[in-house]
Amino acid sequence: MKLVLATSNKGKVREFKELCEAFEVIPYTELMEPFEIIEDGDTFAKNALIKARAVYDALGEDDVVVMADDSGISVDALGGEPGIYSARYAGVGASDKENLYKLIDAIKEKGVKFSGAHYTAAIAIVTKNKERVVHGWMYGDAITEARGDKGFGYDPMFIPKGYDKTLGELNNNVKKELSHRSKALKLAKVVLQTLE
Ligand code: IMP
Repeated sequence: MKLVLATSNKGKVREFKELCEAFEVIPYTELMEPFEIIEDGDTFAKNALIKARAVYDALGEDDVVVMADDSGISVDALGGEPGIYSARYAGVGASDKENLYKLIDAIKEKGVKFSGAHYTAAIAIVTKNKERVVHGWMYGDAITEARGDKGFGYDPMFIPKGYDKTLGELNNNVKKELSHRSKALKLAKVVLQTLE
C-alpha cells in the first residue's frame, strides 16, 4: 500500500518513517511540487483533514492512502496557546527557533518559570471512500529555556511528565514511546489495517 504523507516538515517525515516501518511512506513533496494548503479549520482534526484531502485530490489517483498530521503545543499559563497556531506562532513562515523563543518569552511574561502543557496530534487518513481522524496527546511542562537539540520544534522546552529532561535532551526512543504522534499513529495503524 502506498502511504503518502501530506507534509513537507522534515521532523514529522522522519518520525512517521520510524514509526511506520511496515509501510512505504512517501512525503507528497517527492511526488509533486509542494503547494500551499490553507489550514483554516478551528481544530487540529479539521486542519489534518484539510491537508489530507488537498493532497489526495492533487494526486488524482484512486489507489493511494494519504495521511496528514496536524499538531501543536498548548500551554496552560497561556490559556491553551499557541494550540492550532503552533506553526505560525511567531508569524507566517516563522522558523522552529523563532516559534520556540516566542513561546519561551510569552511564558516568562506571565511571571512563571514553567507551565503545564501538552502536545496534541490529529492524524487524518483519506482514501477513495473513507475519511478517518485519530488523536494522541503527550502531557508535561513547558519551561522558559531551550535545552538540547534532539527532536524538533518546541521539543527543547518540553519536559514530558515523569522526566526531568527536555525532549531536546532525552534519547529519541523516549519520544518514540511517549509522543502524541506515536499514540495517534498506533490508532492510525488500526485504521490502515481495516483498509487492507
Ligand atoms: P503543523 O505542521 O501545521 O501541524 O504544525 C505543527 C507545529 O507544532 C510546528 O510548529 C511544530 O514545530 C510543532 N510541533 C508539532 N509536533 C511537535 C513535536 O513533536 N515536537 C515539537 N514541536 C512540534
